[in-house]
Amino acid sequence: MSHAEIGLIGLGVMGSNLALNIAEKGHPIAVYNRTASRTGLFFENAEGLRENIVPCTTLADLVAAIRPPRPIIIMTQAGKAVDEQIAALRKLLSPGDIIIDAGNANFRDTMRRFAELEGSGIEFLGVGVSGGEEGARHGPSIMVGGAKESWHRVEPVLTAIAAAYNGEPCAAWLGPDGAGHFVKTLHNGIEYADMQMIAEVYGVMRDGLGMGPKEIGQVFGRWNEGPLNSYLIEITSAVLAADDPQTGRPMVDVIVDSAGQKGTGRWAVIEAQMMGVPATGIEAAVAARSLSSMRQERDAAERAYGSPVKPIDPADRDALIADIEQALFAAKIGAYAQGFAVMRAASQEFGWDLPMATVARIWRAGCIIRSQFLDTIASAFEAKADLPNLLVSRAFVSMVSKAEPSLRRVVATAATHGLAVPAISSALAYFDAYRLARGTANLIQAQRDFFGAHGFERIDGPGAHHGPWGGHMAG
Ligand code: NAP
Repeated sequence: MSHAEIGLIGLGVMGSNLALNIAEKGHPIAVYNRTASRTGLFFENAEGLRENIVPCTTLADLVAAIRPPRPIIIMTQAGKAVDEQIAALRKLLSPGDIIIDAGNANFRDTMRRFAELEGSGIEFLGVGVSGGEEGARHGPSIMVGGAKESWHRVEPVLTAIAAAYNGEPCAAWLGPDGAGHFVKTLHNGIEYADMQMIAEVYGVMRDGLGMGPKEIGQVFGRWNEGPLNSYLIEITSAVLAADDPQTGRPMVDVIVDSAGQKGTGRWAVIEAQMMGVPATGIEAAVAARSLSSMRQERDAAERAYGSPVKPIDPADRDALIADIEQALFAAKIGAYAQGFAVMRAASQEFGWDLPMATVARIWRAGCIIRSQFLDTIASAFEAKADLPNLLVSRAFVSMVSKAEPSLRRVVATAATHGLAVPAISSALAYFDAYRLARGTANLIQAQRDFFGAHGFERIDGPGAHHGPWGGHMAG
């Protein structure tokens, strides 16, 4: 009976598709789900793949069905469910077995779980999986954290099911303990920023230029042929072309403008803040989702002030659309530069030695932010592994310099026409502040010294100094 090579717990959207993917690649898999009816239904629908699937109704059956040493993937809801499954598995597993948490765990939970399993003989991997339902079924991007030896034991299965970019699997070991889940969190943070920026330019075209969804969809379709080419731009074009089967209206027009979030974007921002790394594009995106959910408040505020939106002169339309393409590209570079800077800081803080070029390489296919653009990022890190920020790599300096005037014009137009572009404008502010050798924090240091005697450094010598505030010092 114990002929399965691997096990999987949690046959929801991701787990069921991942299990089919594993079975399809010729790896016999035992599966278990808390609600047994789901397991039955899954097996029934597995059709030609059934011979590689062992459906189990208890965890004990699942463990018995796998050839030791057993790798078992947990693909349940993150958080408490994972702790419960680990606790239950610990009673059934033997030394050498590997528990693989493949959900969207907070990397701090992953670090805790590593510590809790230490000395038990049971190995653990914290694995980020991206690509949604389709990716899980046909090839996700897989970001692995844990002991390298544990990774090597499951590498044949995980590389077989991963997406491939030019024949290279989009699955890799990225570092010990929480490294994989941290990288997945930043992947999602960047995804938030990318999606928000796309939504912002949709808003400029819809509200500023008065364009309809189909027309805007065609613009995205054209952009997908250029430097913006990516999965998110491609699906945006498809989404804007779709009609609602119930009303015949464009589908996007009947969808409530309130975005959901499950927490990974927020975690990315929190971790960036904890390490003191600016990630303003991701911050703006998370805040925009939160603001979007305050529908009643927004409604009341529009009644109080009136809508801020002013139409843009149609004569400017073609030039503005050309500018928007460049602006979106520049802003996207800013968000990715910030995301990679956050990962660099975490790599130093947690001693992970994250391979940045590999991170970019395994995001080129399978995941939601996949694009050719990531190839350029991979090359930048291959040329200089310790690059402090993508914005200073030679390839990006030339790309951003070219797009900069467009970014300025788009942000200025949006501001004067009452069109909210928080993530895109944050990219411009970040870029302007990052490239300015003498900023304005000298004044902040003076203020801090004035009211709190915090001291400051002088430009002309070492040491801590105080200003001549005299009797003006606050008490
Ligand atoms: P889902 O469709 O909602 O399925 C959730 C699964 O978790 C079900 O199998 C459910 O079992 C199980 N579960 C929930 N609470 C449980 C508990 N206390 N004990 C045991 N099992 C429990 O979720 P999903 O979209 O597949 O997501 C699974 C994981 O992948 C999450 O961590 C998610 O964040 C991550 N993820 C999702 C996506 C995506 O696009 N959906 C992409 C990447 C990563 P029952 O059938 O018994 O309820």
